[in-house]
Amino acid sequence: MRATCGRRDGDATTTTTTTTPVPPQFNLPAAVIIGGGASRELVPELQRLAARRVLLVTDGFMVSSGLAGRFSAAMEAAGLVVITFADVQPDPTDETVRAATRLFTAERCDAIVALGGGSPIDAAKAVAVLAVNGEPLDRFQGYHQVPRGGVPLVVIPTTAGTGSEVTKVAVITDTARDVKMMMLDRHLLPTVALVDYELTLSMPAPLTAHVGVDTLTHGIEAFVSRKATPLTDVLAIDCIRLVAAHLERAWREPGNREAREGMMRAATLGGMAFANASVALVHGMSRPIGAVFHVPHGLSNAVLLPAVTRFSLRGAAGRYATVARAMGLAIAADGDDTAGEKLVTGLAELNRRLEVPTLAGCRGVDRGRFDAWKEKMADDALASGSPQNNPVVPTTAQIVALYEEAW
Ligand code: NAD
Repeated sequence: MRATCGRRDGDATTTTTTTTPVPPQFNLPAAVIIGGGASRELVPELQRLAARRVLLVTDGFMVSSGLAGRFSAAMEAAGLVVITFADVQPDPTDETVRAATRLFTAERCDAIVALGGGSPIDAAKAVAVLAVNGEPLDRFQGYHQVPRGGVPLVVIPTTAGTGSEVTKVAVITDTARDVKMMMLDRHLLPTVALVDYELTLSMPAPLTAHVGVDTLTHGIEAFVSRKATPLTDVLAIDCIRLVAAHLERAWREPGNREAREGMMRAATLGGMAFANASVALVHGMSRPIGAVFHVPHGLSNAVLLPAVTRFSLRGAAGRYATVARAMGLAIAADGDDTAGEKLVTGLAELNRRLEVPTLAGCRGVDRGRFDAWKEKMADDALASGSPQNNPVVPTTAQIVALYEEAW
């Protein structure tokens, strides 16, 4: 049987013909506990999961700041055995995942707690499924490639953020190929997310800006994605509104609890939206920048967002206009084209106010390597599958031109 699947309302006229329509699927963790103090639910949640021996997956800052020790002490006071793996680096690698999995197995752990930003959370997700399914790790790359569910996983995000706490996504760098592997599968979902904005009060201004624009990118890409659904639309638009209302205040006033709470909620809503609607061209192009130049994920999204939005406007003018109005950058009386232009200008100005550099200004990026790598980065971006969800699907040459524009 042949079926015609048009895109949702408010889109450009793209219509595709498929032989087997696949109904959209919406996945979330079994429990999301959200609000100030939510992380204090860690021990009761582990007890509900009948955990006895916990692998705590985190990073060096979480240890030196004392946060990891605070959670370890609470778990140990409740009779749990805690083994800490604190070697997760930003943009975790396959080697890190393997080392943590070996520790999990050797210590006969039965549950995992992830504490930190997207990097420890993603590493822990990969450990949870690798411990059950075994090698090779790279077979999980792509969509729906994880055969069996992992061990119980409780995550506590400390950035706002990637939304990884509620997504079925993990991004792990393959060190042999210099590729950030995107894995998307419901088996990667955490069991429980404890979303406590109080843990984000310590974020410095640059980190607040980078992860905040990452959140905004999730909201926008989920809303304009070819895989958007009515369920993801409401989450995406609320995410976008919250970022517009709170990001700059959180950046200027790190201790502003209302702004931090707003950004934490935005990050979680953005994660729920993009994981179920998919990200698009910004993320597709951003991952190769991270793999080659080690630019932090949120920063590489931020430098690309204005140029990619301008490129994509004609594919979903109505949707981008809705984004512009949700952010307060356009008014109802503006036509879609005018609102779209205002959105592009507004995103570039937001970057400038948050002191986000262009690609040329990012630490670790130099012109010679950029020229040597840009074609491969464009190929890797296309191969990831994300650009195919974009309102306008680019060619390799167009992606190279967009990298140049972001330079
Ligand atoms: P991160 O986890 O890499 O952390 C960046 C730095 O910030 C680290 O040094 C960390 O110690 C520090 N930090 C974390 N919390 C802090 C706090 N409260 N105060 C002060 N410093 C703090 O950063 P991230 O942006 O949260 O995560 C990026 C990773 O997440 C990338 O690997 C990216 O690919 C991935 N990601 C995953 C998803 C997903 O759905 N799985 C979505 C987007 C991005």
